[in-house]
Amino acid sequence: MISCRSQVYNLVQDLHRIGIVHGDLEPRNIGRARGGGFCLIDFSESRRHNCKESKASEPGTQATPTQNQCSELQALRNYLWKQQPQPPS
Ligand SMILES: [Zn+2]
Repeated sequence: MISCRSQVYNLVQDLHRIGIVHGDLEPRNIGRARGGGFCLIDFSESRRHNCKESKASEPGTQATPTQNQCSELQALRNYLWKQQPQPPS
């Protein structure tokens, strides 16, 4: 089962993969989709973005080279998992 955190992270990562940064990721901009998942709303701050990280890694991998880290994805990870860090596997 995929956790809520991972669903939100995957959504944002998909966005980055197609070259868009949301720019204003906050809980109020993350909505519940009708099918039970999540959706992102309010793209007023979004802009085009060449995301090296989303092309280089999958969620949960720890092997991302530092130079490829994307500030928005990193901030999102810190936000989503700060209470409950992923256990090392
Ligand atoms: Zn990015």
